[in-house]
Amino acid sequence: MARYTDAVCKLCRREGQKLFLKGERCVSPKCAVDRRPFPPGEAGRRNVMRRKVSDYGIQLREKQKARRMYGVMERQFRRYFREASRRKGQTGGILLELLESRLDNVVYRFGFADSRAQARQLVRHGHFAVNGRKTNIPSFLVSPNDQISVREKSQTKTYFRERAQILGSASPPTWLSLDATNLNGTVTSAPERDEIGVLLNEQLIVEYYSR
Ligand code: SF4
Repeated sequence: MARYTDAVCKLCRREGQKLFLKGERCVSPKCAVDRRPFPPGEAGRRNVMRRKVSDYGIQLREKQKARRMYGVMERQFRRYFREASRRKGQTGGILLELLESRLDNVVYRFGFADSRAQARQLVRHGHFAVNGRKTNIPSFLVSPNDQISVREKSQTKTYFRERAQILGSASPPTWLSLDATNLNGTVTSAPERDEIGVLLNEQLIVEYYSR
């Protein structure tokens, strides 16, 4: 599967916003957005002063931001959008709900990983089970009442033993319930827009795809 392999901090600088792609580093003084708050490249600093962005440009950037935050490639993102427009309700809100329900995002939200990229790798390596069944597909969509757990075999690994200690002070969003001691958690409900703490204007994404 195609993946973005360049320096991820460039993505945040391009969007002019923290996308929280690197865990701890994102909240440290080392964050590239804080240190170099202009787009990457030779002309980045100059262009930021001059550039006038069209409506299309604004919509495009919002879509790219969402894609990069959740680590989803264009084709898959478009599929999420199509699915969101098929369902009843506000397309933008449903789109975010679908993205939030991805297994890699849920693993990240529980605090089993510091970033979505790390969560994706842990899922891919087969460390998680959904309702007791090994699931190594990061895009797997969880539903209310699903139980996500670190597999028994993986619980003995140093990484997860250390995680269990940190998780005691973790506070996952209200639609998730965490049992830190036993390294598992339950999806108590579908995520509502106000429970999804991402700085995105999903309406702009809807407008982008509705052109
Ligand atoms: Fe983005 Fe995190 Fe890099 Fe800062 S440290 S630029 S928030 S990925």
